[in-house]
Amino acid sequence: MVEIKLHNTKTRKKEVFTPIDASNVRMYVCGPTVYDRAHLGNARPVVVFDVLNRLLRHVYGEEHVTYVRNFTDVDDKIIARAEQSGREIGQITSETTQWFLDDMAALGAREPDHMPRATQYIPQMVLMIEELIAGGHAYEAEGHVLFAVESYAKYGALSGRTVKDMIAGSRVEVAPYKRNPMDFVLWKPSSGDQPGWDSPWGYGRPGWHIECSAMSYELLGDSFDIHGGGNDLMFPHHENEIAQSCCAHPKGDFARYWLHNEMLQVEGRKMSKSLGNFFTVRDLLGQGVPGEVIRFVFLSTHYRKPMDWTENMRRTAHRALSNIYEDFENALHNFHSEVIKERLPEWREENLPKPSPALITALANDLNTADALRIFREHARQADVASLTDQQQVLANGRFLGFFSSNTLKPAITAQLVADLEGYASRLKELRDKAIETKNFANADAFKNILTEAGIIVQISKSEVTLKQGPDFDPSKLESLK
Ligand SMILES: [Zn+2]
Repeated sequence: MVEIKLHNTKTRKKEVFTPIDASNVRMYVCGPTVYDRAHLGNARPVVVFDVLNRLLRHVYGEEHVTYVRNFTDVDDKIIARAEQSGREIGQITSETTQWFLDDMAALGAREPDHMPRATQYIPQMVLMIEELIAGGHAYEAEGHVLFAVESYAKYGALSGRTVKDMIAGSRVEVAPYKRNPMDFVLWKPSSGDQPGWDSPWGYGRPGWHIECSAMSYELLGDSFDIHGGGNDLMFPHHENEIAQSCCAHPKGDFARYWLHNEMLQVEGRKMSKSLGNFFTVRDLLGQGVPGEVIRFVFLSTHYRKPMDWTENMRRTAHRALSNIYEDFENALHNFHSEVIKERLPEWREENLPKPSPALITALANDLNTADALRIFREHARQADVASLTDQQQVLANGRFLGFFSSNTLKPAITAQLVADLEGYASRLKELRDKAIETKNFANADAFKNILTEAGIIVQISKSEVTLKQGPDFDPSKLESLK
């Protein structure tokens, strides 16, 4: 069996991964709070843990992995969004949840086995809070229930802080009802039209941290293998999850391996609305950047390093992927054609070989995705495009890494952009036809220049004009044509 090594935040070491039960490897990853489109940074953990999910399934078997990622659908940010927009909370959360799933699917991320929503697990949270109170780890004060950090000696161990450091180093919410400023909310009162549920402490709603503890316990048990998320969640969220889970279920270990991905930057700077470099996954897709290109850029940086999203990286990734798509055009066509697969079973997914061992070895080394990408590209470069075995191997490697979702590197673009390109193609065709008649090509050439300037590849034959989006495609340069 392939030996997987993972860097465990808990021990600060790269360790050999040994699951509790190899017939059911269990992983929990903190998911999004659903009130808006996912920004690019939100997508990084999704892609990172998608790779890990694929690797675990490869090693332990498709049926022997349980991957859970939650949706936070009760939160003050959601309540605020509902108040601003005058829309129902349920409308906002269900719409945003679907956006998230669509956008992540465009990045080639497989859906987890379970995607619990916080509001579906309120009774489990209430039960856990009751257990914490009974065990002397939580107390009720002014309609709130708070976790008493001093009741858990190991509080802070994951991020390596002491309670004293934390008070000094963070903006803690000081409230008169807290015994220690670091004590955090398990339950709080709801008023007016804020969402709420009846509880032993009155009408209210859960704090954020308790939901992951309650849902992971319900779906994965008191001890499971891997817990993941962005390193911005390490403190306080993960620290609080550990405190809650270990105090409510002292016999369990909660999570054995903790994995944290580093943050994402844009052109070397932190992504923020105030710097004007903030964008969502949907913004990029809408501009015609294929989801697979975004994925390729993500995979080219190791998950424990800060990832810098740059225009240059996007272009390089687009070029690299387009080359592979072009070289294996026939194989991809066969693989995606139901008619061909019907006749030629060698093109069916289940008949592809396993991904190359070198690629698996790279990923098994603490998810060295950059190395895995390099191996994928090298194999593709060295492959004999006329050899069935080679074609199948490249397909298998690409599929495993989450590429080749269609037979061409299609931009996950809006129908609008497709229609625009078709419109420009027929306009260019008309201008050319006229130019041939009048022997004056000035207008046709000027129009063609605008298209190529915008990074569109223009192919002209006697009977037709085809426009394809090249790696340097920049839709903003087409504005003048509208
Ligand atoms: Zn969580």
